[in-house]
Amino acid sequence: MISRLKTLALATTLALAPAALSAGEVNVYSYRQPYLVKPLFAAFTKKTGIKVNVAFLNKGLVEKLEAEGKRSPADVVLTVDIARLAGIVAAGVTQPVKSAVIAANIPAQFRDPDNRWFGLTSRARIVFASKSRVKPGEITTYEDLASPKWKGRICIRSGTHAYNLALFSAYLAHHGTAATKVWLKGLRDNLARKPQGNDRGQVKAIWAGECDIALGNTYYMGAMLKKPEQKQWADAVRIDFPQFEGGGTHVNISGMAMTKAAPHKANALKLMEFLTSPEAQEIYAEANFEYPLNPAAKPSKLVASWGDLTPDPVPLMTLARLRPTALKLVEEVDFDK
Ligand code: FE
Repeated sequence: MISRLKTLALATTLALAPAALSAGEVNVYSYRQPYLVKPLFAAFTKKTGIKVNVAFLNKGLVEKLEAEGKRSPADVVLTVDIARLAGIVAAGVTQPVKSAVIAANIPAQFRDPDNRWFGLTSRARIVFASKSRVKPGEITTYEDLASPKWKGRICIRSGTHAYNLALFSAYLAHHGTAATKVWLKGLRDNLARKPQGNDRGQVKAIWAGECDIALGNTYYMGAMLKKPEQKQWADAVRIDFPQFEGGGTHVNISGMAMTKAAPHKANALKLMEFLTSPEAQEIYAEANFEYPLNPAAKPSKLVASWGDLTPDPVPLMTLARLRPTALKLVEEVDFDK
């Protein structure tokens, strides 16, 4: 009788408070902002009982992992940009992860062939075009950004920013160094003002009449629409999806890797697999207006309303490899002058 009561009591505890039981924990170093990842971790903890501890960083992730070495508490890192993911891997602070679940959830194009990094979401670098001054269909290719018809009409952030360097790397992959340099000069000559500010700042400049088109990442449209003071900027523009001649629209990713030290390896694997599930991918997509990479997950209604995205097929690792060349060209043409 006593043992039966005990069993019942235990069953009740399990049913009422799975998270309270010690399923352990997992530690994350995140370059992604709290509002983007907290809903994901809450869903993971609810499902598994595993507690997620997060350190939010702005810079110095690799240096921190290197300094901590084998004693690092970190299990998983989250970041954006393929060059940054490749840089973390190249620093030797990660370990490969073999998972049939992740391999089934994330298309091969968006993960490392050697399983050291995995994409979670993608974002396209597109053209924000003035609704009143640019007709639909007027800009359809990246190559066209160097056409004289755009003289004095383009705004862009610094050419040395990671988002632009990845795009310029894609241009290099399609056209080679000489043609890319010519194109970069043409784009520079078309600028309405010296490169400055962030992606949203370019849309604000279109709203203010300073320029007619700008390069920016898709999710900023969603971010601006959510902020009352920025909504009017967003309302002044439309998203056009330029493509490379013979290619698609340039995309970059946010992604993850397991650290070399990973003191909670089994839990880290569970978290990484969860982040690729349709459930987590849709939470992520709703929070940040990015494109889920699991084909079973849907983008948010707003993101879907922007139109069809055909991602450029240049391998992400090629973009990371060409980044130093892109930076060199940006400096050679004095892009930010
Ligand atoms: Fe951004």
